[in-house]
Amino acid sequence: MSKSLFFFAGFSLLFCVTSSLSWSMQCEEHDCDESRKTFVSTLPGSGKWKDDVTPKKNWTCQAIEDLESADSLCQMCEREWIRYAHTMQHADYKNLTVGCICAGHMEGDLKASKERESYFRSRSQRRTKWLDLAWKKSKKGNLYIKTRANSEDEDSHIVTIFKGKYGKYSASIDQKYLEQWFPTVREAQYAAFDYLWPSKKIFE
Ligand SMILES: [Zn+2]
Repeated sequence: MSKSLFFFAGFSLLFCVTSSLSWSMQCEEHDCDESRKTFVSTLPGSGKWKDDVTPKKNWTCQAIEDLESADSLCQMCEREWIRYAHTMQHADYKNLTVGCICAGHMEGDLKASKERESYFRSRSQRRTKWLDLAWKKSKKGNLYIKTRANSEDEDSHIVTIFKGKYGKYSASIDQKYLEQWFPTVREAQYAAFDYLWPSKKIFE
């Protein structure tokens, strides 16, 4: 084997390994990939991938939402249970709520669907650690935290949890009040997180 061919083979192998690694990191749980694979190979596909009426391309993503658990069925392959629901729209068809890989193939841009989902996966990881961050106590005894910028702006935010006169809890983010009351401190903390980092993103 010539030297350059050897390098090429080595590089290709490395590329395959790293791309499959990043693949598994971003879309590992419910990726609808199997259903799509069978669709493009000689085996029968599943769900709407194999019918004659559902458009297979030219879809755009209208919204993505973290459903918090994987109990919604992908409406395209009708086989994968999805947690991160990509709502896809098409000029000639009704909206479909689908998983990451089906969404990527429908819009012809797997990178875009993976990036969308990756944002929500890291949001969800941050949410699980939210209560464990270094919350401080104000002189009035209210928990508060200075937190990082969200996706809307580049400023940090002050979240304060306080108790109302009826014994329930709410939060203020910077100077804005949530205008919702919760039975526990922790629920008010999560509501503040969801205010700063909503579980759903709508695209224009
Ligand atoms: Zn699917």
